[in-house]
Parts: sequence; C-alpha cells; structure tokens
Amino acid sequence: MPNKSRKILLLPGDGIGPEVVREVKKILEWFNKNKSLDFKFEEELIGGASIDKNKIPITDEVFYKSLESDAVILGACGGPKWDNLEFSKKPERALLKLRKELKLFANLRPAICFKQLVDSSTLKPEVVSGLDIMIVRELTGGIYFGEPRGIQPIKNNERKGINTHTYTTSEIHRIARVAFDLAKKRNNKVTSCEKSNVMEAGVLWREEVQALKDKEFKKIELNHMLADNCAMQLLRNPKQFDVILADNLFGDMLSDEAAMLTGSLGLLPSASLGEKDKDGKIRSLYEPVHGSAPDITGKNIANPIATILSLSMALRYSLDLIKEADLIDSAVQKVLDDGLRTKDIISPGKKEISTTDMGDAIISKLK
Ligand code: NAD
Repeated sequence: MPNKSRKILLLPGDGIGPEVVREVKKILEWFNKNKSLDFKFEEELIGGASIDKNKIPITDEVFYKSLESDAVILGACGGPKWDNLEFSKKPERALLKLRKELKLFANLRPAICFKQLVDSSTLKPEVVSGLDIMIVRELTGGIYFGEPRGIQPIKNNERKGINTHTYTTSEIHRIARVAFDLAKKRNNKVTSCEKSNVMEAGVLWREEVQALKDKEFKKIELNHMLADNCAMQLLRNPKQFDVILADNLFGDMLSDEAAMLTGSLGLLPSASLGEKDKDGKIRSLYEPVHGSAPDITGKNIANPIATILSLSMALRYSLDLIKEADLIDSAVQKVLDDGLRTKDIISPGKKEISTTDMGDAIISKLK
C-alpha cells in the first residue's frame, strides 16, 4: 500500500528535542517526495515548551491528536528551566500521561553496536562488535505500580517502606507475546529473566512464559535466566542473546546496561507499544533513549541518529514499512562507514559534523 496516508505526530519537546526531530521531519519529507509515500505529519508542543505556552505539559488537544495518529515520535521533555515546578506540573508528566493513557505496556529497546563505533564501548571490540539484541521490558505493571505501597511509621520510631511486586497471568502473556512475535522476525530466540529462585512472582513469570511458548510459539527457542545472571552475561558474552524479556524492574536495569554496551546515548532509539484497539491499531510512542541534553542545546551538535532510528522503528513496527525502515538503517551505517561523526562519537581520523549535516548525510545515503 505505497500511497496509503499515514498520520505521524511529531512532539519535539525541549532542549535538543526540536533539533533532532527536525532531522526526522526532513527524512519524512524526503520519503514523501522521492518514494511516493504520503506521510501526514503534524508538530505539537509537549513538556516545558507546552508549559511555557499553555501552562500545562500536554493539552487535551495534543493528547487526542496522539490517540488519532498512526505513530507518535517524541524528542525529549524537561530541562533546568522547569526543575523547580512541583512534581505534578513538571514537563516529564506529559510523557507519563502518554504512556499511561495510551496503555503502552511494552518497551522495546534495541542494543546495537555498530561495527564502526566499537571503540565507543567500554567492552572489548570482539565482545560487542556486531551486537544486535532487543530488550522487551514490561512497562505498566510490577513493583513500580503494585499496591500496597508507601512509607509507614512503625514502632520504636522506625519507618517501613513498602512496594509490591505483582503480575497476573494475562499481564505476563501480553508482554511475552510481544517478545515471541519479535523473535519470529529476528533469530527465533527469547531469554526470559526473573528471580524465580527467591520470588513467587518470578516463579509465576517463568511458568506462564513457558506455558505461552508451549501453546502458541512452539518454534521459538526459549531460555529462562535469573536476572542477576543475565546482567552478568550481558557483560561477559552479550552476543548469546537475541530477544531478552523482563518485567518492569529487571527490564529497567537490564535495558540500561545493554544500552551502555553500545557506547553512546545519542545512538539509542526506543519504542513503547500498547494494546490493539478495536480497529486493530496498536498505539505507539517512539523516542530516543536520551533526554533533552541542556548542556548542548542550541549548538547544532546533538546526535540525531537515536531519533532517526526511532523513526525507523516506527516504520517497522507501526506503519508496516519494512523496506523503508531498512533503508534508513543502512543509510545510517553508510554515513558511519564514511567516517562522519557528531561530536559525541568522534574519534581520531573521523570527521566531525553538525546535527543538520548528519541529517543531510543520512538523506544523501537514502538515495
Ligand atoms: P540527557 O540524556 O539529556 O544527557 C546526558 C548526557 O548525554 C549529556 O551530557 C548530553 O549532552 C548527552 N547527550 C544526550 N543526548 C545526546 C545526543 N543526542 N547527542 C549528543 N549528546 C547527547 O540526560 P540528563 O542530563 O540526565 O537529563 C536532562 C533532562 O532531560 C532532564 O530534565 C531530564 O529529566 C530529561 N530527560 C528526559 C527524557 C525523556 O524525555 N524521555 C529522558 C531522560 C531525561
């Protein structure tokens, strides 16, 4: 369906957000002009930029636009200007609202180590070169949301902090299905992580993931691994993994650890997916892993690759444009092959270029 119109909502946000999203916009325009695609993209305010104009981090109008879009691409929210606002009014609340209201229960974080950038990793080149793993983290359940929670006074002037780790069968199946479906498009291998040696919720997680695999995904190779061992194996031999599946807490840590194997924040995209609605549409939000980087804002030196790869994920997972996603990924590779680098990934012998030049260089390789 090459000419099907696809609605994309761009939310540049704060700090370097507008600078990196601008490069995404250029790529969308290029596709419309050169590949007869019909991306209808709109840009709206979110985060601090929305607070400055509307006094709230996201307006209802923008929120409803995000519901109507085929994919939402966000830059970043937040910055020192809004640091002193009370918690409920901070720019980051917009992001939490989107995640919650779009019911984005699955967070996908690829950790890819481009061969051209192996030196940016703190690990030995042979350990990380060519690394390509996908972490699937449950995002709306587990200990970050479980009840009861709180801090209570107890006897002897002491206090007790309480959080509850809870998952149901359907919550586990819902996220495991995302991991298995992704593995089918990759190398058919899922490693599921929990702490079934010390947690009942971990025992349930292991049993239910296995039950779903036995019932619906017989061809996938499934391994179970204790989360602490997975953290160790990620440093020892990360290339043993294809898709890693984890709950909210362990996934939070494992995805940050895996991200750092690749060396630079400016290269890491992410996707958050929700459930299918009644029209069969899956709600989704795509964003770079990095924040608004106030220290480099306005200097045209931010690396736009993480946001551009977030666009590639949107094309792949929400818009069914696999060929176009592959084209973007290989254009990024070619630019790196040419030795072009933004400041954050520069190394001796390579050429430093600006944010806008990086966007232009990637577009030149799409051709
Ligand atoms: P950050 O990711 O913004 O920056 C960390 C470091 O990485 C900085 O030195 C920055 O210059 C560098 N960096 C980040 N992205 C880069 C890029 N694309 N190219 C080159 N260098 C890059 O994290 P922080 O400094 O802890 O947070 C700054 C603000 O961003 C805070 O207000 C925080 O709340 C917000 N934040 C937002 C999100 C989001 O919107 N999803 C995520 C994280 C942080």
